[in-house]
Amino acid sequence: GDLGQEEQGLIISHFGKQVDVEAMDGKKAGQIFRCHLRTHLGQLVTGDRVVWRAGVEHGVVVAALPRTSELIRPTNHGELKPVAANIDRLIITFAVEPTPFANLIDRYLVAAELSEIEPVLLLNKSDLITDDNREEMDELLNRYRKIGYRVLMASTTEEQGLDPLLAELDGKISVFVGQSGVGKSSLINVLLPGVDIKVGELSEQSRKGKHTTTTARLFHFPKGGDLIDSPGIREFALWHIKPEKLLDGFVEFRPFIGHCKFRDCKHDKEPGCAILGAIESGKVSASRMDSYQRILGSLLEQG
Ligand code: GDP
Ligand code: ZN
Repeated sequence: GDLGQEEQGLIISHFGKQVDVEAMDGKKAGQIFRCHLRTHLGQLVTGDRVVWRAGVEHGVVVAALPRTSELIRPTNHGELKPVAANIDRLIITFAVEPTPFANLIDRYLVAAELSEIEPVLLLNKSDLITDDNREEMDELLNRYRKIGYRVLMASTTEEQGLDPLLAELDGKISVFVGQSGVGKSSLINVLLPGVDIKVGELSEQSRKGKHTTTTARLFHFPKGGDLIDSPGIREFALWHIKPEKLLDGFVEFRPFIGHCKFRDCKHDKEPGCAILGAIESGKVSASRMDSYQRILGSLLEQG
């Protein structure tokens, strides 16, 4: 059959050996085409930019363009598998309730830093702030503002504080992560009013057994920017990271790295530890150091 000419596209979902490609330019821009993959392209995932061409029944992806970032997860067999590509923003979502765990926020921050994805902290359910919890929330948020992170507050149910969030999302590919119950689904529904239809379509297809997939999918926010979402991605945490890289995931520790008295300093109780010194002088918070030690412990345990 006749093959179209080569053009650029964006993978908006992937299932096994097939992908859905959204045409990025020309007359077809915005249209979606089911495509096969040429062999030897490696594992292509949602968010990947590709070169493809239209065909009679299916298109074909002929080349993959370089990624700016990727989220990687280890499989049951211990291999590392990409799950999404070219993500610009990790929106780390937490809420006034359930009580936020600083340690979990820090895990997401490390993941973002080491994947070179820019993190934004989002405190949801701001409508639940009272005189009883205000101070605690302020203290938590200020700890992150102080080390240079952007922190937003919103109430999804009251639809408050959403404009600064929309501005963060515009022109970028974002992923929302965070503990269950913080309001990620609610937030996504508010930001993506059209998504209900798409979610409906998806489940419709699953019922017919065409492809029961929970792989990541890319959606366009009506006010600009894209979302990559899947139940797995929302709960994404620190899937894989080498223990020796961990320290570098704590941005405010970086100026002190390499300045400890002992080269093999574990930054635990050693004399002359530059990071412990920074805690003493108030440049580093004890809570972040506690997170570091806990995450390190869990990484070493996983082996
Ligand atoms: P997810 O597990 O992170 O996807 O969270 P959900 O979107 O399922 O929300 C969990 C619960 O929090 C639901 O009962 C929501 O109605 C509620 N919720 C979501 N956003 C807000 C908010 O801004 N304020 C309040 N008070 N409740 C919210
Ligand atoms: Zn040290």
